[in-house]
Amino acid sequence: MIFENTLEFARQLDSQDLLNKYQEEFIFPQVNGKKVIYFTGNSLGLQPKRTKSYVDEVMDDWANLAVEGHFYSQKPWWDYHERFAQPLSKIVGALPSEVTVMNTLTVNLHLLMVSFYRPTKSRYKIICEEKAFPSDQYMFQSQVDFHSHYLGIKLEDTIVEIKRREGEHNIRVEDVLAKIEEVGDELALVLIGGVNYYTGQVFDMKTITAAGQKVGAYVGWDLAHAAGNVRLELHDWNVDFAAWCSYKYMNSGPGNASGCFIHENHHNNSELPRFAGWWGHNKERRFKMEQTFDPIHGADGWQISNLPILSLAPYLASVALFDEIGMDAIIQKRDRITSYLEFILQEIDKEVDSSFEIITPSHVLERGSQLSVLLHGEGRSLFDYLMKNGVITDWREPNVIRLAPVPLYTSYTDMYEFGQILKTGILNKRQL
Ligand SMILES: *Cc1c(COP(=O)(O)O)cnc(C)c1O
Repeated sequence: MIFENTLEFARQLDSQDLLNKYQEEFIFPQVNGKKVIYFTGNSLGLQPKRTKSYVDEVMDDWANLAVEGHFYSQKPWWDYHERFAQPLSKIVGALPSEVTVMNTLTVNLHLLMVSFYRPTKSRYKIICEEKAFPSDQYMFQSQVDFHSHYLGIKLEDTIVEIKRREGEHNIRVEDVLAKIEEVGDELALVLIGGVNYYTGQVFDMKTITAAGQKVGAYVGWDLAHAAGNVRLELHDWNVDFAAWCSYKYMNSGPGNASGCFIHENHHNNSELPRFAGWWGHNKERRFKMEQTFDPIHGADGWQISNLPILSLAPYLASVALFDEIGMDAIIQKRDRITSYLEFILQEIDKEVDSSFEIITPSHVLERGSQLSVLLHGEGRSLFDYLMKNGVITDWREPNVIRLAPVPLYTSYTDMYEFGQILKTGILNKRQL
């Protein structure tokens, strides 16, 4: 499609957009009495209007039923999480028995590493991406520390980072595959962010998973920036495990509950250790308070505690919305609106003779709903200008803004208007 940088053209795209009406489903903050252009759904998604009723329902049931709510609520709490299995499994491409919701993301990755990172003296290395999200880096380091005292392994020999080539912003899949080959028999685990949080690069999860498993390692994915954003076929890709948070593209509120995937290949494997708790115990026998742990068959068997219903409620509201719309429609709009934003950036770049550099891959299969833009020569003051003018973006040192035109609630008109505000901001600054 040939794009145009005009309001009329943007409005025309909006009028053809089947998801346009879903903006109405969300609550937008206001700046100067006008709803903001929200580009940070990759960090904290907007609140869906329906969420409050899901939370109110739990509050009301708690008020009216107290302890009886476990069994007699409108959605009984004791198996509340089971309502996620169907819709969530569709979002991540899994069997219902392969997904569960619990805890928060880093906690879940730690718990999954308990099962899937079982280093020995000869096979102990972890492959991850260079400059992984800090929480992931701390997790890797502390996991290695945890095992080092009996294995005598050293951090610097254990964590193998895939580097970017000199002068390149993204990691080449061929370099990941070559590193996997090179580490070979010593490789215990590959664990990478499916979508890089900084650049928005989407990894070829299918190919990397197969390559890691071929040398005898487990392969897991941190899907913080992938769930609800990109096409996932975790079951078919034979991914061993994965986890994601629900507050980014999944719009379920600050710090909210995580989701996990554990491939059915592992559901019967009693060799895999796990940290157990009563919510992972055989459901029929849970309240018999038996001494021996008998795990639920499936991902639910990794649950530990009874679930925080007040945080699952907004997550359930969000998953229902995704289920109504479906990932196909989301991905279709995502590709078009991201390309439109890319076009707008290029046009403005020409008009103001600036030098933006989009560091996110340009190929649609290698990116989701995010463009990371290096603003050569434009400082943080531009970001502040955007904020004051109702454009919420996210600033990363040294000078990158990340823009996520989330398909559920951003419009083509937003992209056009953003371009105009950006242009004015740059020109104003030059006049000072
Ligand atoms: C957002 C994000 C996290 C956040 O972890 P929490 O445990 O939810 O605080 C972790 N890893 C990646 C890659 C992220 O993008």
